Amino acid sequence: MLSDRTIDLHAHTTASDGSLSPEDLIALAAHIGLTAIGITDHDTIDGLPEAHAAARAAGIEMVPGVELSVAYSRGRLHMLGYLIEIGSPSLDERLARLKENRRKRNQQMILRMQDLGLPITMEEVTDAAGGGQVGRPHMAAVLVKKGAASSISDAFERFLAEGRPAHVPKDKIQPSEAIQLIHNAGGLAVVAHPDSLGLDEAGLVQYLAELKALGLDGIECYYSRYDARQTSTLLRIAAALDLLVTGGSDFHGDTKPGILLGHVQDGQPVQHELLDRLKDAASRRRAQAPASAV
Ligand code: AMP
Ligand code: ZN
Ligand code: FE
Ligand code: FE
Repeated sequence: MLSDRTIDLHAHTTASDGSLSPEDLIALAAHIGLTAIGITDHDTIDGLPEAHAAARAAGIEMVPGVELSVAYSRGRLHMLGYLIEIGSPSLDERLARLKENRRKRNQQMILRMQDLGLPITMEEVTDAAGGGQVGRPHMAAVLVKKGAASSISDAFERFLAEGRPAHVPKDKIQPSEAIQLIHNAGGLAVVAHPDSLGLDEAGLVQYLAELKALGLDGIECYYSRYDARQTSTLLRIAAALDLLVTGGSDFHGDTKPGILLGHVQDGQPVQHELLDRLKDAASRRRAQAPASAV
């Protein structure tokens, strides 16, 4: 059983690569007793209207979010946007453009695989995505199913990873643009799972300070794969740089087994107070800086 006032600010639905629909995710969150859940699908906010309606019906708070994949050469930079308005024109337009670019890239990658003689079609890949956003993991799943690769990682290593024959680069948002888009949508920009940046503590402090100069609001200090030491390091960095603290599981359902909704590092609860602070900061930001055009 979760302790009182536990929240989870990081979860995915079928709108991106999670296995639960927005409605089912909200139902699960209410069932396990969360007081609030952040929906943070990759590069899409398509799940938010359904989640919003379901959350109202279930009497649980839904924090509208998004997780943007951002250009970064040394590792992986995922930027969470929290408390964003649904229907912000600049965010909607940019997400639509990303989606169109992804659609073209998927087609090009499948053509390359077909040229390599691999048994794969767009239809199979779309089916593997189960109605969500299509990407390389679904291509890998088809290659494994057809016996053209022995495992998902084998499919990546031989065909799909950067520099491999079927790879086509993806359109990526720059860090400053990601922060601007989130701010223009009335939200707060937070670096997800900062360990993915592949930096040691000094490197992390330096890079996060650069992002803060671009407007970064917070970092994710509680996360399902962290141990207590990583969390305390990140809390220290957040305090030193005056950044907000967030936390969540990165629940994906069956897509990433082993991650439990509402659970972060060693089963520690994420407290509702963090959300109160986010909301205060979002109202302050909106009062200070009316949205500007990108
Ligand atoms: P895409 O957005 O289509 O480029 O796919 C990115 C996703 O592919 C990432 O979120 C990872 O889940 C997955 N991925 C990337 N590299 C690998 C790899 N070497 N092995 C397995 N999965 C990978
Ligand atoms: Zn994901
Ligand atoms: Fe992520
Ligand atoms: Fe995530």
